[in-house]
Amino acid sequence: MDGALVPREQAVVSVFDHGVLYGDGCFEGIRAYNRRIFKVGSHIKRLFASAAAIRLESPYAHRQWIDSIRQTLDANGLTNAYIRVVMTRGVGTLGLNPFRCPAPTCFIITDSIELYPPSLYESGMKVITARRPRNLPAALDPSIKSLNYLNNILAKIEAIDAGVLEAIMLNHEGYVAECTGDNIFFVKGGRVTTPPVSAGLLEGVTRRFVMELCGELAIPCGERIFRMEELKAADEVFLTGTAAEIIAVSQVDDELIGNGAIGPVTRRLTEEFRARVAQGAPED
Ligand code: PMP
Repeated sequence: MDGALVPREQAVVSVFDHGVLYGDGCFEGIRAYNRRIFKVGSHIKRLFASAAAIRLESPYAHRQWIDSIRQTLDANGLTNAYIRVVMTRGVGTLGLNPFRCPAPTCFIITDSIELYPPSLYESGMKVITARRPRNLPAALDPSIKSLNYLNNILAKIEAIDAGVLEAIMLNHEGYVAECTGDNIFFVKGGRVTTPPVSAGLLEGVTRRFVMELCGELAIPCGERIFRMEELKAADEVFLTGTAAEIIAVSQVDDELIGNGAIGPVTRRLTEEFRARVAQGAPED
Protein backbone atom coordinates (compact mmCIF):
# COMPACT_ATOMS: atom_id res chain seq x y z
CA MET A 1 0.00 0.00 0.00
CA ASP A 2 1.62 3.28 -1.13
CA GLY A 3 5.07 1.76 -0.98
CA ALA A 4 4.83 -0.31 2.21
CA LEU A 5 4.10 -3.98 2.80
CA VAL A 6 1.13 -4.28 5.16
CA PRO A 7 -0.96 -7.21 6.41
CA ARG A 8 -4.21 -7.83 4.51
CA GLU A 9 -6.39 -6.30 7.29
CA GLN A 10 -4.42 -3.06 7.14
CA ALA A 11 -4.67 -2.80 3.37
CA VAL A 12 -7.56 -0.32 3.40
CA VAL A 13 -8.59 2.72 1.38
CA SER A 14 -10.18 5.95 2.66
CA VAL A 15 -13.87 6.62 2.06
CA PHE A 16 -12.69 9.96 0.63
CA ASP A 17 -10.64 8.22 -2.05
CA HIS A 18 -11.88 9.21 -5.51
CA GLY A 19 -11.37 5.63 -6.65
CA VAL A 20 -14.20 4.72 -4.26
CA LEU A 21 -16.27 7.88 -4.70
CA TYR A 22 -16.14 8.12 -8.50
CA GLY A 23 -14.33 5.08 -9.92
CA ASP A 24 -11.56 7.53 -10.75
CA GLY A 25 -8.42 5.49 -11.32
CA CYS A 26 -6.99 2.63 -13.30
CA PHE A 27 -5.80 -0.92 -12.73
CA GLU A 28 -4.18 -4.05 -14.12
CA GLY A 29 -4.73 -7.78 -13.63
CA ILE A 30 -1.55 -9.83 -14.03
CA ARG A 31 -0.58 -13.46 -13.46
CA ALA A 32 2.57 -15.08 -12.12
CA TYR A 33 3.52 -18.57 -13.24
CA ASN A 34 6.40 -20.30 -11.40
CA ARG A 35 7.61 -16.97 -10.03
CA ARG A 36 7.69 -15.41 -13.48
CA ILE A 37 5.34 -12.50 -13.97
CA PHE A 38 3.67 -13.01 -17.33
CA LYS A 39 4.12 -9.98 -19.61
CA VAL A 40 4.49 -7.67 -16.62
CA GLY A 41 6.29 -5.11 -18.78
CA SER A 42 3.29 -4.89 -21.13
CA HIS A 43 0.86 -4.66 -18.20
CA ILE A 44 2.74 -1.81 -16.52
CA LYS A 45 3.02 -0.06 -19.87
CA ARG A 46 -0.76 -0.31 -20.24
CA LEU A 47 -1.21 0.94 -16.66
CA PHE A 48 0.81 4.03 -17.55
CA ALA A 49 -1.19 4.49 -20.78
CA SER A 50 -4.49 4.26 -18.85
CA ALA A 51 -3.17 6.71 -16.25
CA ALA A 52 -2.03 9.17 -18.94
CA ALA A 53 -5.45 8.95 -20.62
CA ILE A 54 -7.14 10.13 -17.40
CA ARG A 55 -4.41 12.67 -16.56
CA LEU A 56 -3.17 10.67 -13.57
CA GLU A 57 0.54 10.67 -12.87
CA SER A 58 2.15 7.62 -11.30
CA PRO A 59 4.31 8.43 -8.27
CA TYR A 60 6.41 5.36 -9.13
CA ALA A 61 8.48 4.57 -12.19
CA HIS A 62 7.74 1.54 -14.37
CA ARG A 63 10.66 -0.39 -12.78
CA GLN A 64 9.48 0.39 -9.23
CA TRP A 65 6.04 -1.07 -9.92
CA ILE A 66 7.63 -4.31 -11.14
CA ASP A 67 9.99 -4.50 -8.15
CA SER A 68 7.05 -3.90 -5.77
CA ILE A 69 5.02 -6.67 -7.44
CA ARG A 70 7.92 -9.09 -6.89
CA GLN A 71 8.24 -8.01 -3.25
CA THR A 72 4.51 -8.53 -2.69
CA LEU A 73 4.65 -12.00 -4.27
CA ASP A 74 7.66 -12.90 -2.10
CA ALA A 75 6.06 -11.51 1.07
CA ASN A 76 3.08 -13.79 0.45
CA GLY A 77 5.25 -16.76 -0.52
CA LEU A 78 3.47 -17.06 -3.85
CA THR A 79 4.89 -18.66 -6.99
CA ASN A 80 1.63 -18.87 -8.94
CA ALA A 81 -0.69 -15.94 -8.38
CA TYR A 82 -3.18 -13.46 -9.69
CA ILE A 83 -1.92 -9.92 -9.15
CA ARG A 84 -4.05 -6.80 -9.01
CA VAL A 85 -2.34 -3.44 -9.42
CA VAL A 86 -4.45 -0.37 -8.67
CA MET A 87 -3.79 3.34 -8.89
CA THR A 88 -6.63 5.63 -7.83
CA ARG A 89 -6.91 9.42 -8.00
CA GLY A 90 -6.35 9.38 -4.24
CA VAL A 91 -8.00 11.10 -1.31
CA GLY A 92 -9.74 14.38 -2.10
CA THR A 93 -12.75 16.55 -1.43
CA LEU A 94 -16.38 15.55 -2.06
CA GLY A 95 -16.41 17.03 -5.53
CA LEU A 96 -15.37 15.60 -8.89
CA ASN A 97 -12.30 17.81 -9.36
CA PRO A 98 -9.45 15.31 -9.74
CA PHE A 99 -6.85 18.02 -9.32
CA ARG A 100 -7.86 18.54 -5.71
CA CYS A 101 -6.50 15.09 -4.87
CA PRO A 102 -2.85 15.63 -3.93
CA ALA A 103 -1.54 12.07 -4.35
CA PRO A 104 -2.71 8.86 -6.02
CA THR A 105 -3.43 5.81 -3.87
CA CYS A 106 -1.40 2.85 -5.10
CA PHE A 107 -1.71 -0.76 -4.07
CA ILE A 108 -0.80 -4.25 -5.18
CA ILE A 109 -2.73 -7.39 -4.22
CA THR A 110 -1.27 -10.85 -4.79
CA ASP A 111 -3.79 -13.64 -4.42
CA SER A 112 -5.41 -16.33 -6.56
CA ILE A 113 -8.36 -16.22 -8.94
CA GLU A 114 -10.74 -18.76 -10.44
CA LEU A 115 -12.74 -16.86 -13.01
CA TYR A 116 -14.56 -19.86 -14.49
CA PRO A 117 -14.99 -23.40 -13.11
CA PRO A 118 -12.28 -25.79 -14.41
CA SER A 119 -14.92 -28.02 -16.07
CA LEU A 120 -15.72 -25.20 -18.53
CA TYR A 121 -12.16 -25.44 -19.87
CA GLU A 122 -12.98 -29.03 -20.93
CA SER A 123 -16.49 -28.49 -22.27
CA GLY A 124 -16.31 -24.95 -23.62
CA MET A 125 -18.45 -22.13 -22.33
CA LYS A 126 -21.88 -20.82 -23.33
CA VAL A 127 -22.13 -17.07 -23.78
CA ILE A 128 -24.84 -14.61 -24.76
CA THR A 129 -24.92 -11.38 -26.70
CA ALA A 130 -25.41 -8.45 -24.33
CA ARG A 131 -28.20 -6.04 -25.26
CA ARG A 132 -26.14 -3.23 -23.76
CA PRO A 133 -23.46 -1.86 -26.12
CA ARG A 134 -19.83 -1.44 -25.05
CA ASN A 135 -18.95 2.12 -24.06
CA LEU A 136 -18.68 4.54 -26.97
CA PRO A 137 -14.92 5.17 -27.40
CA ALA A 138 -15.49 8.92 -27.79
CA ALA A 139 -17.31 8.94 -24.43
CA LEU A 140 -15.19 6.55 -22.36
CA ASP A 141 -12.58 4.66 -24.37
CA PRO A 142 -12.62 0.90 -23.59
CA SER A 143 -8.86 0.89 -24.21
CA ILE A 144 -8.50 2.68 -20.85
CA LYS A 145 -8.49 0.05 -18.09
CA SER A 146 -10.23 2.36 -15.64
CA LEU A 147 -11.91 1.65 -12.32
CA ASN A 148 -15.22 2.40 -14.08
CA TYR A 149 -16.33 -1.14 -14.92
CA LEU A 150 -20.10 -0.62 -14.69
CA ASN A 151 -20.60 -0.96 -18.45
CA ASN A 152 -19.04 -4.43 -18.21
CA ILE A 153 -20.69 -5.32 -14.89
CA LEU A 154 -24.17 -4.54 -16.25
CA ALA A 155 -23.47 -6.78 -19.26
CA LYS A 156 -22.13 -9.46 -16.89
CA ILE A 157 -25.44 -9.27 -15.00
CA GLU A 158 -27.25 -9.86 -18.31
CA ALA A 159 -25.11 -12.98 -18.76
CA ILE A 160 -25.74 -14.27 -15.23
CA ASP A 161 -29.48 -13.60 -15.59
CA ALA A 162 -29.39 -15.73 -18.75
CA GLY A 163 -27.64 -18.55 -16.84
CA VAL A 164 -24.18 -18.10 -18.39
CA LEU A 165 -20.95 -16.48 -17.22
CA GLU A 166 -19.89 -14.19 -20.06
CA ALA A 167 -21.51 -11.85 -22.57
CA ILE A 168 -20.35 -10.59 -25.95
CA MET A 169 -20.52 -6.82 -26.18
CA LEU A 170 -21.09 -5.00 -29.48
CA ASN A 171 -20.00 -1.49 -30.30
CA HIS A 172 -22.50 1.24 -31.11
CA GLU A 173 -22.48 0.19 -34.79
CA GLY A 174 -23.33 -3.41 -33.96
CA TYR A 175 -19.89 -4.84 -34.62
CA VAL A 176 -18.43 -7.34 -32.13
CA ALA A 177 -16.06 -5.62 -29.68
CA GLU A 178 -15.17 -7.94 -26.80
CA CYS A 179 -16.63 -9.68 -23.75
CA THR A 180 -17.11 -8.17 -20.30
CA GLY A 181 -13.64 -9.19 -19.13
CA ASP A 182 -12.13 -11.06 -22.07
CA ASN A 183 -11.21 -10.47 -25.71
CA ILE A 184 -12.86 -12.59 -28.42
CA PHE A 185 -11.54 -14.55 -31.41
CA PHE A 186 -13.15 -16.79 -34.02
CA VAL A 187 -11.71 -19.41 -36.36
CA LYS A 188 -13.13 -20.04 -39.84
CA GLY A 189 -11.44 -22.26 -42.42
CA GLY A 190 -8.30 -22.38 -40.28
CA ARG A 191 -8.00 -18.59 -40.10
CA VAL A 192 -8.07 -16.76 -36.75
CA THR A 193 -9.81 -13.37 -36.55
CA THR A 194 -10.25 -10.85 -33.75
CA PRO A 195 -11.71 -7.32 -33.82
CA PRO A 196 -9.27 -4.39 -34.09
CA VAL A 197 -8.79 -2.01 -31.16
CA SER A 198 -10.70 0.57 -33.25
CA ALA A 199 -13.84 -1.57 -32.73
CA GLY A 200 -13.79 -0.23 -29.14
CA LEU A 201 -12.13 -2.74 -26.84
CA LEU A 202 -9.36 -3.20 -24.32
CA GLU A 203 -6.16 -4.23 -26.08
CA GLY A 204 -5.59 -7.40 -24.09
CA VAL A 205 -2.10 -8.56 -23.26
CA THR A 206 -3.26 -12.17 -23.69
CA ARG A 207 -4.88 -11.22 -27.02
CA ARG A 208 -1.55 -9.86 -28.29
CA PHE A 209 0.32 -12.94 -27.03
CA VAL A 210 -2.14 -15.30 -28.76
CA MET A 211 -1.75 -13.34 -32.02
CA GLU A 212 2.03 -13.71 -31.72
CA LEU A 213 1.62 -17.44 -31.00
CA CYS A 214 -0.44 -17.76 -34.20
CA GLY A 215 2.42 -16.13 -36.10
CA GLU A 216 4.96 -18.55 -34.65
CA LEU A 217 2.74 -21.57 -35.30
CA ALA A 218 2.01 -20.43 -38.88
CA ILE A 219 -1.70 -20.15 -38.12
CA PRO A 220 -3.16 -17.33 -40.27
CA CYS A 221 -4.39 -14.59 -37.95
CA GLY A 222 -5.65 -11.05 -38.45
CA GLU A 223 -7.80 -8.21 -37.16
CA ARG A 224 -11.00 -6.97 -38.80
CA ILE A 225 -14.48 -5.91 -37.82
CA PHE A 226 -17.31 -8.46 -38.01
CA ARG A 227 -20.89 -8.92 -36.84
CA MET A 228 -22.62 -11.59 -34.75
CA GLU A 229 -23.88 -13.51 -37.82
CA GLU A 230 -20.30 -14.21 -38.85
CA LEU A 231 -19.24 -15.15 -35.32
CA LYS A 232 -22.13 -17.59 -34.98
CA ALA A 233 -21.20 -19.24 -38.28
CA ALA A 234 -17.58 -19.75 -37.19
CA ASP A 235 -15.91 -23.15 -36.78
CA GLU A 236 -14.49 -22.15 -33.39
CA VAL A 237 -14.78 -19.24 -30.96
CA PHE A 238 -12.53 -18.61 -27.98
CA LEU A 239 -11.93 -15.91 -25.40
CA THR A 240 -8.65 -14.63 -23.96
CA GLY A 241 -7.78 -12.76 -20.80
CA THR A 242 -5.28 -12.76 -17.97
CA ALA A 243 -7.68 -14.44 -15.55
CA ALA A 244 -9.48 -16.58 -18.17
CA GLU A 245 -6.30 -17.47 -20.12
CA ILE A 246 -7.77 -19.17 -23.24
CA ILE A 247 -11.27 -20.63 -23.03
CA ALA A 248 -13.36 -22.13 -25.83
CA VAL A 249 -16.92 -20.97 -26.49
CA SER A 250 -19.31 -23.84 -27.25
CA GLN A 251 -22.50 -21.86 -27.79
CA VAL A 252 -23.47 -18.25 -28.50
CA ASP A 253 -27.10 -17.43 -27.64
CA ASP A 254 -29.02 -20.40 -29.15
CA GLU A 255 -26.36 -21.20 -31.73
CA LEU A 256 -23.89 -24.07 -31.28
CA ILE A 257 -20.35 -23.19 -32.43
CA GLY A 258 -19.10 -25.90 -34.81
CA ASN A 259 -20.27 -29.17 -33.24
CA GLY A 260 -20.09 -27.63 -29.77
CA ALA A 261 -16.80 -29.31 -28.87
CA ILE A 262 -13.43 -27.58 -28.50
CA GLY A 263 -11.93 -27.15 -31.97
CA PRO A 264 -8.40 -28.04 -33.12
CA VAL A 265 -7.07 -24.46 -33.41
CA THR A 266 -8.32 -23.50 -29.94
CA ARG A 267 -6.85 -26.73 -28.56
CA ARG A 268 -3.49 -26.12 -30.23
CA LEU A 269 -3.29 -22.52 -28.99
CA THR A 270 -4.31 -23.53 -25.46
CA GLU A 271 -1.66 -26.27 -25.32
CA GLU A 272 0.99 -23.90 -26.64
CA PHE A 273 -0.03 -21.15 -24.22
CA ARG A 274 0.19 -23.56 -21.26
CA ALA A 275 3.57 -24.88 -22.43
CA ARG A 276 5.01 -21.37 -22.81
CA VAL A 277 3.94 -20.18 -19.36
CA ALA A 278 5.11 -23.45 -17.77
CA GLN A 279 8.52 -23.25 -19.44
CA GLY A 280 9.25 -19.72 -18.23
CA ALA A 281 6.65 -17.07 -18.92
CA PRO A 282 7.93 -14.06 -20.87
CA GLU A 283 8.13 -10.96 -18.65
CA ASP A 284 8.46 -8.31 -21.38
N1 PMP B 1 -11.32 -6.86 -22.09
C1 PMP B 1 -11.66 -6.40 -20.88
C2 PMP B 1 -12.83 -5.50 -20.75
C3 PMP B 1 -10.90 -6.77 -19.75
O1 PMP B 1 -11.23 -6.31 -18.54
C4 PMP B 1 -9.81 -7.64 -19.92
C5 PMP B 1 -8.96 -8.02 -18.74
N2 PMP B 1 -9.65 -8.83 -17.81
C6 PMP B 1 -9.51 -8.12 -21.20
C7 PMP B 1 -10.28 -7.69 -22.28
C8 PMP B 1 -8.35 -9.04 -21.44
O2 PMP B 1 -7.13 -8.33 -21.26
P1 PMP B 1 -5.80 -9.04 -20.74
O3 PMP B 1 -5.52 -10.16 -21.69
O4 PMP B 1 -4.78 -7.98 -20.81
O5 PMP B 1 -6.08 -9.53 -19.37
